[in-house]
Amino acid sequence: MQISGANIIGYTESSSGSQTFQTFNPAENRSNETSFFEAVESEVQQALALAEKAFPIYAQKPVADRIAFLKRIVSLLLENQNMLIQHYVLESGLAFSRGETELKRTCVQIETFLKVIEAESWPIQSEETAPNGIYFQKRFAPLGPVVVFGASNFPFAYSTIGGDAASALVAGCPVIVKSHSMHAGTGYLVSKLIIQAALETGMPDGVFSNLQIKDHQLTAMLVKHPCIKAVAFTGSISGGMALVAYAQTRKDPIPIFCEMGSLNPVFLFPSAIHTKSQSIAKAFSDSITQDSGQFCTKPGLLFLIENEEANQFIEELFKEINSKPALLMLGPTIYHNFMQGSEAEEKQFANKSREISDNKSQENYGLPLIDVISLDDFKKSAIWQEEVFGPYALIIRCKTISDFQDVAKMLSGQLTATIWAEPSELEMQETLLFEIQRKVGRIIFNGVSTGVQVIDSMHHGGSFPATTDSRFTAVGKDAIYRFLKSISFQGFPKTHFDKKT
Ligand code: NAP
Repeated sequence: MQISGANIIGYTESSSGSQTFQTFNPAENRSNETSFFEAVESEVQQALALAEKAFPIYAQKPVADRIAFLKRIVSLLLENQNMLIQHYVLESGLAFSRGETELKRTCVQIETFLKVIEAESWPIQSEETAPNGIYFQKRFAPLGPVVVFGASNFPFAYSTIGGDAASALVAGCPVIVKSHSMHAGTGYLVSKLIIQAALETGMPDGVFSNLQIKDHQLTAMLVKHPCIKAVAFTGSISGGMALVAYAQTRKDPIPIFCEMGSLNPVFLFPSAIHTKSQSIAKAFSDSITQDSGQFCTKPGLLFLIENEEANQFIEELFKEINSKPALLMLGPTIYHNFMQGSEAEEKQFANKSREISDNKSQENYGLPLIDVISLDDFKKSAIWQEEVFGPYALIIRCKTISDFQDVAKMLSGQLTATIWAEPSELEMQETLLFEIQRKVGRIIFNGVSTGVQVIDSMHHGGSFPATTDSRFTAVGKDAIYRFLKSISFQGFPKTHFDKKT
């Protein structure tokens, strides 16, 4: 499939603007060839108008038609996986095998959401006869057109037809994707397949659009437009909060579901170090370096209690980290942010040790790093609670177990927290567990936070700034409920709903 570089506005390709950009191949440290057209205001308006027009048609289609549309997307993704993954690799530096895993996960996510609307009872939430004899039925209904912002680190699973776009489409909402400029080619190819599926299954023009916007004013226009009823975003705290600020100037408030930064603290109990120091060091170093540490679930803070065994554990961890090569990152901006972030932390204190891999770094390759500081120093500066996106983690030496509770109280919201301990020890940590529960969406016991499972019991969320709404998840079937509202039908004859799906 040829990449024209155009914006995809419903069924039409459009390249009205004169500004173009290219994506970047971080492995070869050079720009990719294709030019992509930045969307202009008239194109943004066109996508909005089409989405608004498509909504009543799409929302009222029989559920079976919507299922056929999404299933066709899955089959087209799989039929074209080699071509898609080749572009994914060129634009992200991620391995082909990671692309395969991510594409498979993308398809599983779509199928997971489909199971919600395939249920026999869909879209009934509940039904009952009230004490006064009146029949009630409470039903789900789609919110309306949704704007989705893809993430740099998940070109498939959290981008064009990732968890956000797929859950909105399954819910019955047209989607406008603000394409991530780092993988615009992958986004274009996936968008063409979505459009092919929409045409083949008779979906309305405007059910899906993909805009290559660079001008933040145009992004603001999208978020502020009255027809938009929700926004979903994965990325940085500054990016997510910019969208929240745009939305605050709207006349009607809408939900802005942002999944942003997280440090994913780990609490390592002395008993765990005593019994499995080496295996924890290996698991932790693999987790912080997996895909160059470019995961929102990467464990970034490790709290332990100072003692001789803890010192040995740190030595083991350093050995593990030093055995890792410099790691290719998603692109120059992410690489420079990583270098700046880790250097900023390095300058903060002189009395900490730093372990740097012996391997020489080269452009776009980040060196895995571990810093060690005391809890007193950690408390002195907010900089230690800033996410360093990449293969970096900070070890904080505490004095007593009660320090863990104090730390849990002072941490900001997180996607996850991890406890390594003996099960019997866990029983005595009610206060720590309670404090952690106030902050996070997932608690891991004797495991690692990376490797998010796409299952019904997954909650991928957490208190601000991990997300803007800790009640909702971005992973697992429940993600669909972000784009649905409830309506109670009072006194309607039951037969009224018989034909409705
Ligand atoms: P990002 O910079 O937040 O960008 C995500 C999307 O939001 C892009 O399409 C971007 O468009 C848009 N955006 C950002 N700021 C905006 C603004 N002020 N107004 C309008 N749109 C805006 O995230 P990223 O590109 O994925 O990665 C950059 C950094 O984010 C990383 O270095 C890392 O620190 C962090 N990150 C965190 C996570 C996480 O899950 N915690 C995941 C990915 C990245 P433009 O590119 O056109 O500005």
